[in-house]
Amino acid sequence: MANNPLDRIKEDLQNLAKAAGKTLNMDVKPESFDDVIAPVVEQKASEKAAAPAATASAAKAEEPAKKKKPKPGANAPINIYRPKDPYVGKCLSNEELVREGGEGTVKHLIFDISGGDLEYIEGQSIGIIPEGTDDNGKPHKLRLYSIASTRHGDHLDDKTVSLCVRQLEYKDPETNEKVLGVCSTHLCNMEPGSDVKITGPVGKEMLLPDDPTANVIMIATGTGIAPFRAYLWRMFKEQHADYAFRGTAWLFFGCAYTPNILYKKELEELQETFPNNFKLSYAISREQKNSEGGKMYIQHRIAENADALWDLIQQEKTHTYICGLKGMEGGIDEGMSVAADKNNVNWEEYRKAMKKEHRWHVETY
Ligand code: FAD
Repeated sequence: MANNPLDRIKEDLQNLAKAAGKTLNMDVKPESFDDVIAPVVEQKASEKAAAPAATASAAKAEEPAKKKKPKPGANAPINIYRPKDPYVGKCLSNEELVREGGEGTVKHLIFDISGGDLEYIEGQSIGIIPEGTDDNGKPHKLRLYSIASTRHGDHLDDKTVSLCVRQLEYKDPETNEKVLGVCSTHLCNMEPGSDVKITGPVGKEMLLPDDPTANVIMIATGTGIAPFRAYLWRMFKEQHADYAFRGTAWLFFGCAYTPNILYKKELEELQETFPNNFKLSYAISREQKNSEGGKMYIQHRIAENADALWDLIQQEKTHTYICGLKGMEGGIDEGMSVAADKNNVNWEEYRKAMKKEHRWHVETY
């Protein structure tokens, strides 16, 4: 055993490093205690991060991702325009997305943002401030909408931002009268050429990983398709020097009727052009039947594809995104439980672990 305190530290460190399967170069004279201790401490920290995150009751399943990943898009632009001083853009176009025989109104809107500093990335939202005042005579508050275009905009000139907006319509539970949502009606009725007050951008939950080899599972109901349209355009329609998508993208889209499949033609064109990288699965509740003869909801489509999804979801570089109607998560858990159960894994624990690893993303409203 060494008598000199520094030699003793060295000896201890060698033993620690040996236990960790590392060799430390002790010929380098340490400048300070930190110089010596740091490599071992870092090793310990990374070992800790590598501890099985979602072992759950994973008897047979492989462990999911080993390391805690940094949140994607840490440098996303945020709140360039605030409600007190919004950007005033112009509506360039406003087109119906629901085809003959479908229910409700959903519009694809393109706004000109060329006159200001507004920029955004895929997966973010903007705020819209509707004209007029509320019941208390105060100016309406902003409503958030997921951006449906890539950062380059639908015209690929970095001068526009697009939204996919459903007009809210419901019966007042007391009077039974039809009520139309304030902001969604303002947007759905907007004439090209009109001014539009925009705030933001906001949101980091739904950002796309920078890694072009990542796999991306997208699960949408209704206007929840908006951020996924942006992802798919970035992945397959645009050309970038620093992002050439090579992973698997799989979109599950749920709606009531075929004419309610938003962006159907564009999605199917992409699927035909990129069959090896893009899978498209619809769940059309009022037209398709599940294996038990009931309505086909998204959870049934997920359960049907349980094996393939499970294989994919276990890969460290697979991210799952859910967007659309509040409450849809329950059905997705049901569908994914089918996959997890087959592999003797507790789905809830597994999902929580994926969330920690920043590869389970939910935005419902
Ligand atoms: P409002 O006039 O504000 O009315 C809404 C209110 O009506 C509710 O708060 C509730 O009190 C009442 N209400 C609603 N339904 C019923 C009912 N069935 N019975 C009784 N009362 C009811 N929307 C989109 O269309 N597309 C998007 O891409 C989109 N992205 C979003 C992203 C985020 C992050 C969030 C938070 C929301 C998003 N929304 C999106 C929803 C959007 O922000 C608005 O909430 C929606 O357009 C309704 O606003 P409104 O002003 O038309 O309705």
